[in-house]
Formats: sequence, structure tokens, C-alpha cells
Amino acid sequence: MSTSFQHIMPITFDSGEEGPHLLILAGVHGDELEPVQVGLKLTTQLAGAIKIRKGTLTIVPIVNRPAYKNKSRTAEDGLDLARTFPGRKEGSKTEQIAWEISQLIRSVDFLIDMHTGGKTYEIYPLSGYVLHRDEKILEIQRTMATTFGLPVQWGTSPELNGRTISVARDAGIPAIYTEYGGGGQQNEEIVEVLYEGCLRVLVELKMIPDRKMHSPEPQYIVEDTREASGHLQIMYPSPLKGDFITHAQLGAMVKKGDLIGEVHDSKAGKGVEISAREDGLLFLIRRRPFVNKNEATAGILPITQPGTITLP
Ligand SMILES: [Zn+2]
Repeated sequence: MSTSFQHIMPITFDSGEEGPHLLILAGVHGDELEPVQVGLKLTTQLAGAIKIRKGTLTIVPIVNRPAYKNKSRTAEDGLDLARTFPGRKEGSKTEQIAWEISQLIRSVDFLIDMHTGGKTYEIYPLSGYVLHRDEKILEIQRTMATTFGLPVQWGTSPELNGRTISVARDAGIPAIYTEYGGGGQQNEEIVEVLYEGCLRVLVELKMIPDRKMHSPEPQYIVEDTREASGHLQIMYPSPLKGDFITHAQLGAMVKKGDLIGEVHDSKAGKGVEISAREDGLLFLIRRRPFVNKNEATAGILPITQPGTITLP
């Protein structure tokens, strides 16, 4: 299959035995570094120490190579790949990458797409999925997210388009994405956690032997059908252009009215406070100080104790 692609370089491990075909993607955004390391580590391990015994695993460790080369979120055409799916065969580079990845997604049985907050945001570890209208697919996605083992599980609007998970949704393929870390630094611990998460899913699908790994229960499960849920870039928008200063801790439980941060307008010599509008888990915080008007500064998941919450 890889010969038919111009831009992406899938690496396939075929057990020769019947079984599921799992696709693992990393590097949809070029400034999200840990997932790429996970993809490369998996590729090395599966070529040596770990053998696939059932089904097929395909890994694309660096989906968006032109963006990754520049360590930027997007390629030169400026299109956000995660808003461009399913893409166009004869489009710009980002559109062509989206088109190729879409072909790949439609050819598999399960999808994991790993992200971080990139240079701009830091994100508390979470596994996400769309609240698929097909209850069977939704249940498999919940199981995949639980198996992956990150502390927050987030089901979001099935209406979000342009993403790998929306291509999977339309093709009826169970899919999850993960978000963890970011903010411009590389974190070895994140690589390890994501790597183990991938192995857990491989064990769950019986593609590799049981590794007797502990699968932690997610502490917080949020299922949110509201239309824009899952759209990180619109959360707690900055009221003005300026410099953002954080006053809260990622992963903290905040109360309505708590100070999250402030945006300073140096020219006007004034700051505007950004406060929590709800009680919940601060799962997203801006790490790039410069902020344009309406860009996200923070994100709160309205859950106050471990367990499941369904919104609205
Ligand atoms: Zn991303």
C-alpha cells in the first residue's frame, strides 16, 4: 500500500495471521514532538523485541513531514491539517497529506491519533473520541480510551469535522485521539506513558501477547454532546491582544471565579483578568505568552470529582 503514497510513509507490520488492522498516527501537527517519538519507538520495538502475532499494525510516525521539518504546527501553506480532512488529491500539500491519510484510515479497522498542545498549549493527559451515533462503535471507542489509560476520557460532539477522527467516524471505524503535554518542551515521561498506552490497546486487540500491564481506570469521564465541545482553540478566548500570564496550575481543580491568568496590554498599560466561569478541572493552559484577541487561554472540563459526567 505504501507505494501508492507521495507524501506519507506508513510502516506496516503484518503478522500474516488474520486479525484487526490498527493504525497509529503521530505528528499531524509538526510541533507535537512526543507522539512522533512514540511512533518511532513502536516502529523500532516491533521490528525487534515485540512481535505482532495477529492482524496488522500500520504506523505513520510523522504524518505532517513538511510541518515537522519546520517544527511548526502547519506546513508552508498554513492550513491546519486537523481541520483539512478528508483533503484533496490535487490540493495544496496539506490537502494532499490529508487525502492520503484518509485513504489509509478507510483501509483499517481501528485508529489512534496522538497529539500534544504543541508549542502553544499544555494539555492534561486525556483520550478523546466522538460521541458516535452508532452505539456499538461508541462503546468500542470508550473501551479503547479506557484501555489507553490516561486519567481523563472525553467524549465530544460528533459534529466536529476536518479531523482524522471525523474521517474514521464517517467510515464507521472506531477511533480515539490522545492529548498530553506540550508547551515547547520535550518530556520523556510523556513518551513512556503514550507508548504504554499504545501497547495496552495492542494487547486488548490480542495483536501482541499480554504484557501484564496495569491498566489504570480513567478518573474522569466527560461526555459532552454540545456542538463545539472538543474544539480547544475557542476556549476562554483572550479579550485582547497582549501577553498572557498564567496564575493557575494545569490539572488543578478550580472554582468558578478563580483567577486563571491575565492578559496584559503593554501599550495601554493594563491587564484583564481571566477567571473560571465554572467549577472543574483545568485541563488546558496557554504556554505561549503572546496572545491574539480571541485565541484560547485555558480550558476547563466541568467535572469536580472522579467519575462520569454527561453534558449538557
Ligand atoms: Zn495536534
